[in-house]
Amino acid sequence: MKKNGTLLGDTYINGKDTHNPIHSISSNDDMLHLIETIGDEHISTSYDTPLRSDAFLMADEVKIQEIEKHFREIMNILGLDLNDDSLKGTPHRVAKMYIKEVFSGLNPKNKPDIKLFENKYKYNEMLVEKDITFYSNCEHHFVPIIGKAHVAYISNGQVIGLSKLNRIVQYFAKRPQVQERLTVQIAEEMKRVLQCEDVAVVIDAVHLCVSSRGIQDVSSSTLTAAYHGKFQNEATRSEFLKYIGK
Ligand SMILES: [Zn+2]
Repeated sequence: MKKNGTLLGDTYINGKDTHNPIHSISSNDDMLHLIETIGDEHISTSYDTPLRSDAFLMADEVKIQEIEKHFREIMNILGLDLNDDSLKGTPHRVAKMYIKEVFSGLNPKNKPDIKLFENKYKYNEMLVEKDITFYSNCEHHFVPIIGKAHVAYISNGQVIGLSKLNRIVQYFAKRPQVQERLTVQIAEEMKRVLQCEDVAVVIDAVHLCVSSRGIQDVSSSTLTAAYHGKFQNEATRSEFLKYIGK
């Protein structure tokens, strides 16, 4: 596993990682060690978000009720007084926020529906949508990742509405994430929707699990990138990086 911490190109495209360390765990101590290591190093283990096959059998309203119950218990264990006016609505607010907002991108029914249009202007240069602000959550600590995504594509004859690029970014951001996977998922979805290979994604983000806890580095940010098709060509890639000021 040497995939974390480097600028990422196409390494996750095939999704399955045959050297997944989870499969070579022998003892409970090893498992605890692995959990610690993954938690602090932010290693992602696959390109698909790890979801169970029964992930969406339960209705959203039931999920909200269940999460509310469990979150109330967490607050109880912390010793908080849930009769307090300020706290009593918190379990429900958190549960609703998880399902309807911050983790709404887990559910495929919330995936943006995107239509293609004919490229009538015969615009054949790259189109760059930069500084797309997103809020995600680190899947190892459940604290925010705040960043900017910069995406680009070169039309193969069809185009999409500009706001749809933002919507693709937001959809994949609204999941428990690791930044490398978010980068790859956006690039793969753009290729699928645009029916072309020529896409690029750069993400620059701050992880609150790094800045507000653990090592408490407030100035570092993490950069990840995915370049496909013509963007693997040095000149095209440089042009894109110049536009986004990198
Ligand atoms: Zn984290």
